[in-house]
Amino acid sequence: MRIGVYVCHCGRNIADVVKVRELVEFAKRLDGVAVARDYKYMCSDPGQELIVRDIKEHNLDRVVVCACSPKMHEKTFREALKRANLNPFLFQMANIRELCSWVTQDHEKATEKAKAYLKSAVERVKLHEELEVRRVRINPRVLVIGGGIAGITASLLLANSGVKVYLVEKEPTIGGKMAKFDKTFPTLDCSACILTPKMNEIKDNPNITLLTNSEVIDVKGYVGNFKVKIWRKPRYVREDVCNSCFDCIENCLFEKPEFPSEFDEGIGKRKPIYIPFPQAVPPVPIIDPNTCMWLNGKKCSRYCMEVCEPKAINFDDRGEEIEVDVGAIIVAIGYDLFDARKIERYGYKKFSNVFTAIEVERMLNSSGPTGGEVIVNGKRPERVAIVHCVGSRDEGNRVYCSRVCCMYSIKLARLIRERTNAEVYNFYIDVRAFGKGYEEFYKKALEEGIVFIRGKVAEITDHPINDYEKSEVEKGRVIVVAESTLSNSIVRLPVDMVILSVGMEPPKDLEKIKRLLKLSTTPDGFLAERHPKLDPVSTTTEGIFIAGCVQGPKDIPDSVAQAKASAGDALTLIERGEIELEPSVSEVDKEKCSGCGICVPLCPYHAISMVRYNGRMRAEINPAMCMGCGVCASSCPSRAIKHNLYTTEQIRAEIRALLA
Ligand SMILES: Cc1cc2nc3c(=O)[nH]c(=O)nc-3n(C[C@H](O)[C@H](O)[C@H](O)COP(=O)(O)OP(=O)(O)OC[C@H]3O[C@@H](n4cnc5c(N)ncnc54)[C@H](O)[C@@H]3O)c2cc1C
Repeated sequence: MRIGVYVCHCGRNIADVVKVRELVEFAKRLDGVAVARDYKYMCSDPGQELIVRDIKEHNLDRVVVCACSPKMHEKTFREALKRANLNPFLFQMANIRELCSWVTQDHEKATEKAKAYLKSAVERVKLHEELEVRRVRINPRVLVIGGGIAGITASLLLANSGVKVYLVEKEPTIGGKMAKFDKTFPTLDCSACILTPKMNEIKDNPNITLLTNSEVIDVKGYVGNFKVKIWRKPRYVREDVCNSCFDCIENCLFEKPEFPSEFDEGIGKRKPIYIPFPQAVPPVPIIDPNTCMWLNGKKCSRYCMEVCEPKAINFDDRGEEIEVDVGAIIVAIGYDLFDARKIERYGYKKFSNVFTAIEVERMLNSSGPTGGEVIVNGKRPERVAIVHCVGSRDEGNRVYCSRVCCMYSIKLARLIRERTNAEVYNFYIDVRAFGKGYEEFYKKALEEGIVFIRGKVAEITDHPINDYEKSEVEKGRVIVVAESTLSNSIVRLPVDMVILSVGMEPPKDLEKIKRLLKLSTTPDGFLAERHPKLDPVSTTTEGIFIAGCVQGPKDIPDSVAQAKASAGDALTLIERGEIELEPSVSEVDKEKCSGCGICVPLCPYHAISMVRYNGRMRAEINPAMCMGCGVCASSCPSRAIKHNLYTTEQIRAEIRALLA
């Protein structure tokens, strides 16, 4: 055996603490080591070329690199071995940066620990075997989950590049939160004017199959070859037949809208048969089975059905399961809003003049329930308070900053002032106007006379200041009690309307989607990226990408940029036509397997099945689906399963050397 050992300085990261020369001399004395060297940056081109040259000149058959975490550069060095015509799996990395030089300033201890890691890597690599990469074909179709601005953008980019896309949206229409806004910061351009053309493009693009009112219920397979089951919930109106005349809505038994409209956040009403908003896509009504008389077995003449000329109403709709095969998946299920009821002292749902920001967005929208008028308890407000950071930057709730609330608060302040001429007071912790044009947008608000009071709101109350009865200025109003940290005083401000700027939360469906796609989340609860800086739209599962707020709070420009990036990554993947899969997977020795089947349900990737072998049932692993986690190998009572890059012998050799 001829092993080459290479010790990296990592600039000064390693060399300032670990004595690299001593490490090299130590390596030279180890059994089987033919060459040992150190270099400033092993991962650099000259560093890699050093390894390539040595493999050829010194006939090396194994390589050990002592450097950083294998997560950073294992792939880099395996590629170097490949270039020297050596099987890339005859390689082992020892992490002497994160595990040695970064955890102590003690040169002696760090060097001794590094020697132990180096030796265990040498002993382990001796037992490595040549492994061959597997190639699988990639299905050129993509599934996008979530039809907000992120999902819409990603779908359009892919479809316009000729890729077939399935866009699954759980609501009856696409558009997400952006469809609810009247104007968008920082340009105050009309949200519908920029969004609805894109929604229509989705509807009209022949490469996009739009599945609204639908949810993903099962995902099997692996990168390039996912099998996805989608449940299309009953709409009771046939999309392929409806001509969008809306006579059905007009002629519903209920003459007036009576039920809270989900799209209008409950401040508007709808009928049992309705369209969420005039520009909804698809432009097809939906029947709510909870409020429709006929679907509840009550008396109704079904006028909707009678007046529908194209015969689109279908009360027998039971929904359907649809199966699609795709090569990549983009998750864009957005965010939910913090439930303001959790902070009881702010009086949301207790006082009729306390609203959340999204409710006010609907109020301000010209196609919303009030036609764009701001009306509170039957009249225009004269004084409005906006409470920032409700649920965000709050130890008891969400500790992170939701990033958009300062800006949308300023937007709402400016729109309310423009429509009602009311005095508007913002209660803030810090104003975070971080984006392009945002500081200017904030300054404009100041110039327009909008007041900013720095301090957290303690409570919103209807309790009069003098403890007995409300003064003239307090009548019909609630009182915002806050600390002003700039004037060092307590503010008690009677107002006609309070807007709570609620923060963003991970969407409630994320747990389900996470389980289905085997994804992980960061401590804030949003989806984790493969690398927060260098790979922000990939996930830890190959072939699955993320876009928009499901990765963390962000504004529309950032959601769009990220959606384009994830579509670009998905496109790069499927354009390759086939993909190399890691060969570090588990295998079953069918002679040893007892057929107990314990491994089958334990496999998180559904890669194991029971097959007949010599007349008996035995476990078999699909190598294309195996992700090499090793759960099966460690749980097999007969020791019939072997992970080919983590064999028991390799791990034992590594531990023995460490403890020697
Ligand atoms: C009050 C308010 C005002 C704002 N104003 C602005 C502004 O003026 N300018 C700006 O830049 N930003 C603004 N934002 C931020 C903006 O809302 C987001 O940046 C943007 O909506 C993110 O888009 P998205 O597609 O990631 O998420 P979303 O808009 O949340 O869309 C996600 C979509 O996924 C769907 N979905 C969820 N779960 C599933 C599932 N299981 N299966 C299928 N589909 C699913 C949802 O129904 C939704 O359609 C504002 C935010 C708030 C709260």
